[in-house]
Amino acid sequence: MNVDDDQFDRQKRVAGWNQEKIASAKVCIVGAGALGNEVTKNLLQLGVCQLTVIDFDTVVKANLNRCLLFTQNDAENKALKAEALSLAAKKLNPAAVVTPIIKNVEALDDKFFSGFDAVFGCLDNLGARLHVNANCYGKVILIDGGTSGFLGKLQVVQAPAACLECGLSKQDYGLLWKKYSCVGEMLDIIDPKMPALPTTTSVIAGMQVNEFVKLILKTGTTLAGKYTFYNGLTGQTNIFTIEKRNSCPVH
Ligand SMILES: [Zn+2]
Repeated sequence: MNVDDDQFDRQKRVAGWNQEKIASAKVCIVGAGALGNEVTKNLLQLGVCQLTVIDFDTVVKANLNRCLLFTQNDAENKALKAEALSLAAKKLNPAAVVTPIIKNVEALDDKFFSGFDAVFGCLDNLGARLHVNANCYGKVILIDGGTSGFLGKLQVVQAPAACLECGLSKQDYGLLWKKYSCVGEMLDIIDPKMPALPTTTSVIAGMQVNEFVKLILKTGTTLAGKYTFYNGLTGQTNIFTIEKRNSCPVH
């Protein structure tokens, strides 16, 4: 075959590349919003074929400044985000199967998550993040991303290194407490809409999928147990080691 006819020819030229390993990886994307769109796009371009996307929400116009795979039609028809992503994915890579799961992530347990090679946290709230963290720890690597305006974060959770909850501050617990009633049910409060840019989304999603590539190809140095903070206003990226906390309830 002519090298220009192979969709993956240029990445196969990267030292140590193994396209079969990338293609056969099973990944889960939790959250089909901005990061979920961008992570899915990157995975499809790399040739990942088995993707599962979890989200119960519907597309609105305000998503379209940073969600590449959603359309004006999706917003007008109030399409389910996970289904819209799945349909758009087929156009990008017909060989890929993107399975939409229309559920609150908190309805899914560790048995569900342990069936994947990697789980991508693409969520906008701490409660859901901690649920995924607790159900992935020790079973499957979690590559968690988050953004707020020009700022972004990346955290790679892989046992035995620290988990997301190890790095929580008292202030974080305070915020969480506000969000849940004393019986553990989510309070019906309106979240403030977070500032969100397509540029920061691309940077953080790119970092998330880069970590996945290193994990699958067993190359480079992973950021497991580290917290990476990206500041788009200065262009600086700082990486902190998170200490594993003995009192952490997850392990
Ligand atoms: Zn922990």
